[in-house]
Amino acid sequence: MKLDLRPLLAGDKILRFEYELDPNSLDEVPVSDLFDASFPSPMKVSGEITNTAGYMQMKVSLAVDYKSYCARCLRPVNGSFTFDLEKTVATKDIVADLPEERIDDYVVIEDGFLDIDEQMREQLELEFPSRFFCKEDCLGLCPKCGKNLNDGKCVCPEKEIDPRLMPLQKLLEKMKQEEQE
Ligand SMILES: [Zn+2]
Ligand SMILES: [Zn+2]
Repeated sequence: MKLDLRPLLAGDKILRFEYELDPNSLDEVPVSDLFDASFPSPMKVSGEITNTAGYMQMKVSLAVDYKSYCARCLRPVNGSFTFDLEKTVATKDIVADLPEERIDDYVVIEDGFLDIDEQMREQLELEFPSRFFCKEDCLGLCPKCGKNLNDGKCVCPEKEIDPRLMPLQKLLEKMKQEEQE
């Protein structure tokens, strides 16, 4: 969506907006390539732009439901992700004069319009987690048998012994036995 800021530029004090954004319309790149998750419903975007004596400030929130998988055990993980974004709104010529490290604090108005979808996409790419866990202490899958260790231990031996070390292992065991005798 492109917000029409011309009323604000003409002196209005506030512009409120609220709309739904189809995740698949965010980019030419499919969402599934950008994120390790799918978004089953539209994202909800709401915010406002205030104009105080020509100084315009944008506050916006985005909320999106996602479906993904636990990075350790591959169980499905569903949830809701939100972020808030606050930026100063300025025209192209003002932003052009800014030092590069400050440009990220600004959003640019072009011909009286602000491309809010573009802002949402950039921020989502920055903030959306690259992986999820079903729970903080997820035990993951056994690398040998593939059993989900959250469901209980598997029968695999705890540690694999490198076959090249087997003679040494046997020697150590023998020494231990001898010590005990
Ligand atoms: Zn897990
Ligand atoms: Zn196992």
